[in-house]
Amino acid sequence: MIERRIQSGVGPKTGHKNEKGVGCLNIIVCIKQVPSTSNVEVDPVTGVLRRDGIKSKMNPYDLFALEQAFLLREQYGGTVAALSMGPNQAMDVLYEALYMGADSAVLASDRRFAGADVLATSYTLAQCVRKMGKYDLIVCGKQTTDGDTGQVGPEMAEWLEIPHACNAISIESFSEGAFTVKVNMDHSIYTLKIEAPCLITVDKDVNTPRLPSYLRRKRAGNAQISVWSMDDLADQAESHYGLSGSPTQVERIFPPEAHDDRECFKGSGEELADRLYSLLRQKKRI
Ligand SMILES: Cc1cc2nc3c(=O)[nH]c(=O)nc-3n(C[C@H](O)[C@H](O)[C@H](O)COP(=O)(O)OP(=O)(O)OC[C@H]3O[C@@H](n4cnc5c(N)ncnc54)[C@H](O)[C@@H]3O)c2cc1C
Repeated sequence: MIERRIQSGVGPKTGHKNEKGVGCLNIIVCIKQVPSTSNVEVDPVTGVLRRDGIKSKMNPYDLFALEQAFLLREQYGGTVAALSMGPNQAMDVLYEALYMGADSAVLASDRRFAGADVLATSYTLAQCVRKMGKYDLIVCGKQTTDGDTGQVGPEMAEWLEIPHACNAISIESFSEGAFTVKVNMDHSIYTLKIEAPCLITVDKDVNTPRLPSYLRRKRAGNAQISVWSMDDLADQAESHYGLSGSPTQVERIFPPEAHDDRECFKGSGEELADRLYSLLRQKKRI
């Protein structure tokens, strides 16, 4: 692993000071409800997942995103707001976030948001962020366990015109309006300085997520989740949301073919090598 230090980010400084003279952070965490089973049916006509009635859970990566936000709030003060886009049942993951310690929660839910691809999803979430007001940091998971594109975070940052960093393995500190972040680029680890407001997507194992607690649940009491439809957002052009705002065309969704044609060879090393060689020749691999 190579470790490099680079400067990143061009966003305006919004990190304000708390009474101790250090940063005080308003953080938004994006969380998605995903199926907790791999047996999800796909509508053969629209290519859209049938999510109604199937068991769901919080996207596992978003647990790490939430925990990261709580740790920063503990260190610097401030607030953590959870944001999700999905059907009404997505309230469950927002309640879970509140019981884990989020201060507030917003659900973007509207039939007109349905069938959104990554472009429309990130646009809708960015519109919600604009309505949520001043923020210093948006934390997303690195990817989801259903759509799995890893593109929603970076695309949101583009819509909001703020800098972003992906695959963070730690957010080390916040000072002078910038976060110091370690990101995993597979072959190397970079240490970045990224100015607030910004968006960071976090890898798993960045921390150990806390569990929703009875005490926090009691404290959260009857915490209300704000539910926003398209009518609550600044841009109300239907062509920017849901299926009509989604340029992606799904031609076909299908489970990968299972290959059961296995053969087991036995023999000496030389015999096995000969057998393997003739098999590869036969299949025109060599
Ligand atoms: C043509 C088409 C139709 C589709 N129709 C539907 C549909 O009807 N219903 C449906 O549910 N999906 C649908 N999808 C899938 C949908 O596009 C993705 O689920 C969505 O764009 C998120 O992408 P992702 O799962 O790859 O997220 P990733 O980019 O892998 O997620 C990264 C992070 O972004 C954040 N994030 C992602 N999605 C959300 C969200 N919804 N709310 C809050 N935070 C989020 C989370 O922090 C997450 O960890 C469709 C996709 C296509 C291409």
